[in-house]
Amino acid sequence: MADPIRDAVQQRIPAMNEMRTKLHAMPELGFEETTTAKYIADKLHAAGIEVHTGIGKTGVVGVLQSATPGPRLMIRADIDGLPVIEQTGLEFASQNGNMHACGHDGHITMALQAAEILSDMKADLKGSVVFAFQPAEEIVSGALAMEADGLFERWKSDRVIGTHLWNQLPTGFVGVNRGTVFASADAIRVEVTGKGGHGAMPHLTVDPVAIAAQIVATAQTIVSRELPPNEMGVVTFGQIHGGSAPNVIADNVIVEGTVRAYKPEIREQIFASLKRITSNVASAMRGTARFEQLYGAPPVVNDPDVASWTAGIAAQVVGEENVDETPPVSVGDDMAEFLNRVPGTYFLLGAAKQGTEGHHNARFDFDPACLPTGTEIFVRSTVDYLS
Ligand SMILES: [Zn+2]
Ligand SMILES: [Zn+2]
Repeated sequence: MADPIRDAVQQRIPAMNEMRTKLHAMPELGFEETTTAKYIADKLHAAGIEVHTGIGKTGVVGVLQSATPGPRLMIRADIDGLPVIEQTGLEFASQNGNMHACGHDGHITMALQAAEILSDMKADLKGSVVFAFQPAEEIVSGALAMEADGLFERWKSDRVIGTHLWNQLPTGFVGVNRGTVFASADAIRVEVTGKGGHGAMPHLTVDPVAIAAQIVATAQTIVSRELPPNEMGVVTFGQIHGGSAPNVIADNVIVEGTVRAYKPEIREQIFASLKRITSNVASAMRGTARFEQLYGAPPVVNDPDVASWTAGIAAQVVGEENVDETPPVSVGDDMAEFLNRVPGTYFLLGAAKQGTEGHHNARFDFDPACLPTGTEIFVRSTVDYLS
């Protein structure tokens, strides 16, 4: 039986792979995606889609408006790479010191391919599709930057969808959760202030290294002693900076870390505990400490009804037996900001490839066979919603 959507997607596989390899070779960091943004804008222009650049600094919005009124669907794709020196040995590996080590080159490809296919089908659609190409996901800042430039007001949408390809899941599998997909992700900083002096005369000083050590140790009791045992929370301190010599007591110590949780209320509880512990431990030891959240995003939570709809669409593409819920993952993603404003789904697209490492690793890679699957889900979702 003829299936024009499947045919349109399948015909594009060579173009899809070419686009992905090209994007893979030119990764750019968050808010520096100027060449990537130009590439996206040029492709959208060529497909006859209205383009708005500079939405959230380096973000791009494409608007495909049909002649008939109807609902508006937003498709979101993140576009940034990571400061990782690629070691895949691929012939299209990045040479510029950055790497698409999370698969965002695949996300751009699927959204652009869907845009091109949908532009050809414009006459059959009722309503509009907004393609939101979001910068700076890896520093969970791009979604709010796009919001600051009016993304959710100028292109107020009824529904939003997006995908993260996932190389820990088999190719051909689509993960659609009715609730939480990813955790909240927050970068935090504690600045401890003491009083510096001679290492041999600690009584004349207030030692911020000793205070910082106590704060780090006590903060470990938040998850183990304060959260209910069945709730997920992570408090990790990734760096401590302070001091200049073995025999000098420093004035300040900076501790930075990351906090993860699956529920907004647990995230708030961890923050409140961190504030209480930092200030009280510091004052108990005669110093002061300031806790701050540097940047972050809430948990990624799907709308249950929209997720059921997405699962149905995905089943049309990969078969019902290959669509299921997946356990939430403790990574973060500022797709959360989209889902907090517009009911939607973030689905995981299986993309496992033998002999590669996981996301953010210098040997990360994914199975390009996931690209037509994701593209087809985007196109079918749009046709279904706008018909
Ligand atoms: Zn990532
Ligand atoms: Zn990612």
